[in-house]
Amino acid sequence: MKLAHVEAVKKLLATPQKIVIVPHKNPDGDAIGSTLGLWHYLTNLGQEAVIISPNDYPKFLKWMPGNEHILNFEKENIQAKKAIAEATIIFTLDFNHLGRIGQMQSVLEEKEGVFIMIDHHQAPDDYAQFTYSDTSMSSTCEMVYNFIDFLGDTDKISKAIANCLYTGIMTDTGSFKFQSTTSKTHEIAARLIEKGAENTKIHNHIYDTNSPSRLQLLGVALKNMVILPEYKTAYITLTQAELDENNFQKGDTEGFVNYGLTLDSIKFAVIFIENKEEGIIKISFRSEGDFSVNEFARSHFSGGGHDNAAGGKSDDPMKETTERFVSLLDTYKTKLQS
Ligand code: 5GP
Ligand code: MN
Repeated sequence: MKLAHVEAVKKLLATPQKIVIVPHKNPDGDAIGSTLGLWHYLTNLGQEAVIISPNDYPKFLKWMPGNEHILNFEKENIQAKKAIAEATIIFTLDFNHLGRIGQMQSVLEEKEGVFIMIDHHQAPDDYAQFTYSDTSMSSTCEMVYNFIDFLGDTDKISKAIANCLYTGIMTDTGSFKFQSTTSKTHEIAARLIEKGAENTKIHNHIYDTNSPSRLQLLGVALKNMVILPEYKTAYITLTQAELDENNFQKGDTEGFVNYGLTLDSIKFAVIFIENKEEGIIKISFRSEGDFSVNEFARSHFSGGGHDNAAGGKSDDPMKETTERFVSLLDTYKTKLQS
């Protein structure tokens, strides 16, 4: 973030503001962790702040301190719209174009006020007056830590803030194993543990709360996996019927896509998940090395994300979607085999 912008934000926060903080739709650990971490910080400063999530999110994220204050735009629509109407500052966290917030898009597009973006995805839009965008960052949580640091306030990081920010760093780095994990990431994680982040507890909350039906669904997903050695690609499909048969709960498919990459010599892993209600197939893409799934998702499946982790969607039925996907692979054969 530019120094001039840091000074301007500092000045803004020196006077009482009405603040709305927004994560992307289907928020993950980084989106909820970063918005809650920032919310605690701003609230402790004496600011009036509220988080509005575009929709619901998994139970394994709901233990975080302050969670009960998050408004759900779909369920608490009137209250959420009122907060947006009254807001003087809108923080948008862990996304960089307003198409990522579902039904909130039109409301925020019309909203006048100061927008502040903190995000680590590629190709940011320019809707914000103050943009802190850095694609080299492991997570938005790491950036919120930096943001607090820019404002000279790391001494104000409470145990609650530390727990929230540690969560997003852990989930977005795949527990500190992705390439985006730097020595700085570890340093920040260390500072957060010093401030009271309960690393073991956080890990348990996120990863050790499986239900029997989620494990059954994982079994179905793994059985459905199609391996295409000639393209170093593995993909999984899950239909709405399969989800229903296994008592699908939001968040149950989190992490399934990564199993493809655990196969020796597989560099590109994909999961296609049918969502009958929205009439789409939601897709997650993961890669190892220099095959950019961000570009792939952007070019072919109306999506985007990072080089090694991206998402997108298809409006076609499952069969057509996977057939189109497989037919695309030939163009990328050399890249995938290198
Ligand atoms: P996931 O596959 O875990 O849902 O998302 C992987 C990454 O891609 C995350 O950083 C997420 O924010 C991003 N992402 C997921 N879906 C979309 C999408 O539809 N559009 C864009 N631009 N990014 C997405
Ligand atoms: Mn993130």
